[in-house]
Amino acid sequence: MADPALERPTYDDVADALVRISGIAHRTPVMHSRLIDEIAGFRVLFKCENLQRGGAFKFRGAYNAVSRLGEDRRDRGVVAFSSGNHAGAVALSSQMLGVSATIVMPADAPAAKLAATAGYGATIVTYDRYTQDREAIAGELMRSQGRTLIPPFNHPHVIAGQGTCAIEFIEDAPELDAVFTPLGGGGLLSGTLLAMGALSSHSRVYGVEPAAGDDGLQSLRAGHIVSISPPVTIADGAQTTELGSLTYPIIAERVTDILTATDHELVEALTLLATRMKLVVEPTAALGLVGALGMRDELAGATVGVIISGGNLDFPPDFSTGPHPS
Ligand SMILES: *Cc1c(COP(=O)(O)O)cnc(C)c1O
Repeated sequence: MADPALERPTYDDVADALVRISGIAHRTPVMHSRLIDEIAGFRVLFKCENLQRGGAFKFRGAYNAVSRLGEDRRDRGVVAFSSGNHAGAVALSSQMLGVSATIVMPADAPAAKLAATAGYGATIVTYDRYTQDREAIAGELMRSQGRTLIPPFNHPHVIAGQGTCAIEFIEDAPELDAVFTPLGGGGLLSGTLLAMGALSSHSRVYGVEPAAGDDGLQSLRAGHIVSISPPVTIADGAQTTELGSLTYPIIAERVTDILTATDHELVEALTLLATRMKLVVEPTAALGLVGALGMRDELAGATVGVIISGGNLDFPPDFSTGPHPS
């Protein structure tokens, strides 16, 4: 049997995923602030995935992927490795579907994230991020327990699930001239590109990544996937080192451009969202707004969509940059 993990997803997969998650994932609101429009010089609409189940868009892809497993695979359970939103999303989706989940997380992951993942009923296996290889640990769980790996971005069902956010966005705001999404491993951006290509092909689509980890931009310029060492940035949801073999070709073929944001710009943008819109937004989720604000001249008079990808922020927030790769 062909390995579905190797097959490139299409718009039809995104549309199927939307049917699967309807009534299960939240249909998150599209919000707007006149004050931010004034600051920007164009109309900005925000798709608020910080209000999604589990606090991030990751629930869309995780639920789609786990729900599409056959009975046999569901019985044997799933495994994921992540210290961030993907861990919580796989744990929550598995709990809802009655599937056993083991999540491999660094022992020094934020206590709140360990607790949230455990709270969704997952078994947590911790490892020392400086001496142990999480992929080897996950691989052992796949071999010994027959578990299926749910990757954070490089999987057709995950990409298709993430693309459902853009279908909802364009349904609620058909007039979007451009859309900005954060960019880590590229699941959200490639899914968004599939959806926008089918439903609003004239719209421009931009990915925005941390300036310290601009492997996506480097890859686009080089014409092949460029790997970097784990970037040091407060955007912990985008501390990826390379795009995926499935996400890269979709991005390279369709994206309008890739932009970058510094940590300082991210803190400014999430402060704006907190103070003006009363939205709790994690640093990675402010990437899109920074990207849009940086293109004031090109976007004057346009209607611009920004995906706020998540809101899982520890309180009080610590915006000092330290090495905490996900
Ligand atoms: C995972 C994540 C991203 C990056 O998504 P990719 O699909 O890896 O590009 C952006 N924002 C948040 C909040 C995330 O959790």
